[in-house]
Amino acid sequence: MNQYDSERMAEALAAQGYALTADAAEADLVILNTCHIREKAAEKVYSELGRVRLNKERRRREGRDTLIAVAGCVAQAEGAEIMARAPAVDIVVGPQSYHRLAALVAKASTTGKGQVATEFPAEDKFAHLPARPQRKGQVSAFVTVQEGCDKFCTFCVVPYTRGAEFSRDAAEIVGEVERLAARGAREITLLGQNVNAYHGGGPDGRPWTLARLLRRLAQIPSIDRLRYTTSHPLDMDDELIALFGDEPKLMPYLHLPFQAGSDRILKAMNRKHSIADYEKVIAKVRAARPDIALSTDIIVGFPGETDRDFEATMALAARANFAQAFTFKYSARPGTPAAGLERQVPEQVKRERLYAVQSLIDEQRRAFDRATVGQCLDVLLEGSGRKPGQLYGRSPYLQAVHVEGPEGLIGRIAAVDILASSPNSLTGVIKSGFEWHEPVQAAV
Ligand code: SF4
Repeated sequence: MNQYDSERMAEALAAQGYALTADAAEADLVILNTCHIREKAAEKVYSELGRVRLNKERRRREGRDTLIAVAGCVAQAEGAEIMARAPAVDIVVGPQSYHRLAALVAKASTTGKGQVATEFPAEDKFAHLPARPQRKGQVSAFVTVQEGCDKFCTFCVVPYTRGAEFSRDAAEIVGEVERLAARGAREITLLGQNVNAYHGGGPDGRPWTLARLLRRLAQIPSIDRLRYTTSHPLDMDDELIALFGDEPKLMPYLHLPFQAGSDRILKAMNRKHSIADYEKVIAKVRAARPDIALSTDIIVGFPGETDRDFEATMALAARANFAQAFTFKYSARPGTPAAGLERQVPEQVKRERLYAVQSLIDEQRRAFDRATVGQCLDVLLEGSGRKPGQLYGRSPYLQAVHVEGPEGLIGRIAAVDILASSPNSLTGVIKSGFEWHEPVQAAV
């Protein structure tokens, strides 16, 4: 989501004459778009700010000004404290206020005074951002459709940094996807902290579900692939699950966090679902789309997690058989309920549990990748690989695939015979005699 937010911020600032630079040391405006999910997020930002400040001082000695802005969830969580600890910072802007960034930049540069915008404004930021420009862009693009969360899992900062659940209007999203399609996007990933809770207003005046929105986006001719992330098990309704079987443009990949394998820990996490609920959902998803690649998030060492609880996590992961997973050691986020819980798990135990679960997931991921060797997969070619003459793309299951081929094929979907799997990617050859899936230009 931060990648998407950064793109929208850059587009909003283009109207003021700003353009992206590859040389951060020479930037007139430096924006650190921060994430609060990882451990010690704020400390990492302050250490990065130390480096940026040195540059600002050098440029000042050379007679040039530099504005420094901190955006994103660390900005939201720390607010004006950032300027107190790092006075070189000119602007602090939370994720719900970046539609005001251009005005804040203008004000900071004319007044020389620090600007802070970390409230949750009543207006819809998406309605106040400029329309996305018509320029050649990415083959695969992100579009935020939902933000914030009302679930309040006890370990998570999202409800505090991104605010309450909010869904964008369906018509606005369709317009944005049509514009991305017109500039070359073939794949769209819909984003939301709780994306499947989407309930944006539809053009018919009624709230649309995520399934309804996906069905509408699938009608855009040159969009060939749709994905969405991240989902909550409670919001996986039957209509959305059925879409995996009914809508060929919806890719067979689902990221569905389960976090912990024991009901006792799930309750302490306030996840609002049980292990049985989770397994019921994935059984239905697999019935709708048997080849689906399932991915998940797992936290080990949540306060009070016993060996038995952890064994239950391992057992669930073994039963679910994931194609990939993001695994984390629990670490306290200031201000969240779990941070104050007793019975914190010792660091060494957390490390051992993380190693065990990572080894299991690694085995599962490799097995999933090996099973695709010998298959012919549609690969969306997204860009050049590291080696000359090599192209890089993604399979329907979101696996990275490398093939030999000319750059002119970037943006096309090629049928690729998968020859081998290595730890991080697949290698294949473009099928001989294959006819390219030409993009159909959208009528925009
Ligand atoms: S559902 Fe996800 S975003 Fe919402 S509080 Fe829980 S972990 Fe955080």
